[in-house]
Amino acid sequence: MHHTPTMPTAVDPPECACTDCTIGATVPLDRAAPEQLAALLTGRMADRTDSGTEFTVTLSFTLTPGVSLREAAAHTVRAEFRSPGHHIGWDIDPSLLPH
Ligand SMILES: [Zn+2]
Repeated sequence: MHHTPTMPTAVDPPECACTDCTIGATVPLDRAAPEQLAALLTGRMADRTDSGTEFTVTLSFTLTPGVSLREAAAHTVRAEFRSPGHHIGWDIDPSLLPH
């Protein structure tokens, strides 16, 4: 049986319990899946986190002789969010991000 979950349209602040988050129309940041965080970071989901929310996004590359950094694709993407009381991290599939 195929089940297609409803894709939330926005990311709300951590631990948000508003009506939209309760029904799944939006998702609290601390419950966002890696795919959803990738959508937030690339503007495909609306940002309703608190103003001033900052993410640290770290990309790593493996270079072999003859391949320049300009040609290389990131093979890991790590996003982290820290605020008082929260430290949330996501390992994001690089294919979810634009090249
Ligand atoms: Zn909410």
